Amino acid sequence: MSCLFCKIIAGEIPSSKVYEDEDLYAFRDIDPKAPTHILVIPKKHLSSMNDLDEESVLIVSKAFLILKKLATDEGIDKSGYRVVVNTLKDGGQSVEHLHFHLLGGRSLSWPPG
Ligand code: AMP
Repeated sequence: MSCLFCKIIAGEIPSSKVYEDEDLYAFRDIDPKAPTHILVIPKKHLSSMNDLDEESVLIVSKAFLILKKLATDEGIDKSGYRVVVNTLKDGGQSVEHLHFHLLGGRSLSWPPG
């Protein structure tokens, strides 16, 4: 297994876990870009958005419910937050395992660079 995030799910690489169930794993980003910066990832390896199909997209809807719960847990649900999915080179994806960034705790500029 060469995927960094698969190794984190397996516990082979330590992480700051904030949530786990049978389908999803969530942990704090090692290089946070905002006071709250959590990554929510499916346990099933999907390289990017491009791997989504009608079956795996069901995990994405579940991921959004968890993202909402984590935003509430972090106390950023009222102030606001952003969910980001960087995809491949132009999207700025650096880890090839589908992940959802949950960012909040400060005002985030738009548009992204
Ligand atoms: P992306 O650039 O969208 O692919 O996001 C990958 C994210 O993974 C970046 O924000 C990194 O800071 C984060 N990251 C890389 N390695 C680790 C790690 N070992 N633990 C937690 N987050 C990581």
